[in-house]
Amino acid sequence: MKRVYNFSAGPAMLAEEVLQKAADEILDYENHGMSVMEMSHRGKEFLQIAEETEADLRELMKIPANYKVLFLQGGATGQFAAIPMNLSAPGEKADYIMTGLWGKKAVKEAGKYLDVNVAAQSEPFNTVPEQKSWKLSDNPAYVHITSNETINGVAFNYTPEVEAPLVADISSMILSEPLDVSKYGVLYAGAQKNIGPAGLTIVIVREDLLGKAREDTPMIWNWSEKSVSGSMLNTPPTYSWYIAGLVCKWLKSKGGVEGIAKVNKRKAEKLYTAIDESDFYKNEVDMQYRSKMNVVFTLPDPELDKAFKEQAYARGLKNLGGHRSIGGMRASIYNAMPEEGVDELIKFMKEFESKNG
Ligand code: PMP
Repeated sequence: MKRVYNFSAGPAMLAEEVLQKAADEILDYENHGMSVMEMSHRGKEFLQIAEETEADLRELMKIPANYKVLFLQGGATGQFAAIPMNLSAPGEKADYIMTGLWGKKAVKEAGKYLDVNVAAQSEPFNTVPEQKSWKLSDNPAYVHITSNETINGVAFNYTPEVEAPLVADISSMILSEPLDVSKYGVLYAGAQKNIGPAGLTIVIVREDLLGKAREDTPMIWNWSEKSVSGSMLNTPPTYSWYIAGLVCKWLKSKGGVEGIAKVNKRKAEKLYTAIDESDFYKNEVDMQYRSKMNVVFTLPDPELDKAFKEQAYARGLKNLGGHRSIGGMRASIYNAMPEEGVDELIKFMKEFESKNG
C-alpha cells in the first residue's frame, strides 16, 4: 500500500496516525466489543468521547468559558442560513465582507432571511479590502467575514474590530494558526478540511448571542436548543465526532495550534517562493493576503493544465486541479499535509517547468 499526497480542498488528508488508530479500533473500541459507529450517542462510552473531544478542542483553540461549542450537521452551508435565523429578526440588516466565492454564497443565502449589506467586496477576489474602506451599516445584527477563502486562496491577516458581533466562516483555517476567539461572536467550520471527516460542523458561539433565534427556526438549526441538549437534540454525526477527537489528540502531540502553525507557515512560504521565483507559475493574490492553506496558481497556458495534473497524479500528487468555478491549480496544504508533500510538489513543479517552459 502506498499513501499519496492528497492536495484536495476537502474532504482532505487526515494524518496517518489518526487513520491507523481508527483502523485499530474499528471492530472493537476499547474492549466494548463494538465500533464507535455502532454505539448509542447517549451511551456513556460515546458521551465520554464527545466530552473529551470538546475539552481538547477548547484547549487547542483556547476557547473562553463563555462560549458554547456545538457539534452539528449540515456543513458550513447550513450555517449560511442558520446565522441569520439565530442572530436577527426579519427586516433587520447584516453586513457581509465578500472576499471570495464562499462569502458570495453566504451573502446569497442570508439574503433569504434578512437585508444584506455587502459592506466591502474584492471581486475578482485576490485581496481583502482594508477595514477603513468598509461601508458598515448603522446597526447591523452582525458582521460576517470568511477568514480563508478556499477557492480563491485569499485570507484575512487581521482581525476586524467591529461593534456588532463578528461572525467568521473559518472552515478552511480552523486549527491551522492561533486565533483570538474572544474577538468573535460566532465561529463556524465544516470539519472536512482540518478537523476530520465530512458530516460534522463546528459552531462556536458566545453565550449572550444564544436565545435570539426566530420563532420559526427549525429546531435543528436553533443554536440554543442544540446547546441545551449538548448537541444531542437528535442523533449527531458520532463517527465524525470521534475522528475529530483523534485529530485533536494528534494535534496536541504536534505542539498544538502554535506548533502546527509554524509548520504551516514554512510549507506555504516555500510553495509561494517556488511560484514567485519561476516565470512559469503565477499567483495573483495580494501577497499579504495569500492563504497559507489553499495555494492557487496558474500555468502560462491552460492547455498545459491537463498534462500537469496527469503527471502529478502519476507521481502520487493528487487533486491539484483548481475549483471548477475558476480552474487553474490549487494545492490545499492543511495541517495533515506533511512538509515532504509540499517538497515533492515543488520538485515536480520545477521538473514540469523545465520540460515545458
Ligand atoms: N465555506 C468555506 C470557506 C468552504 O471552504 C466551504 C467548503 N469548501 C464551505 C463554506 C461549504 O462547506 P460545506 O460543504 O461544509 O457546506
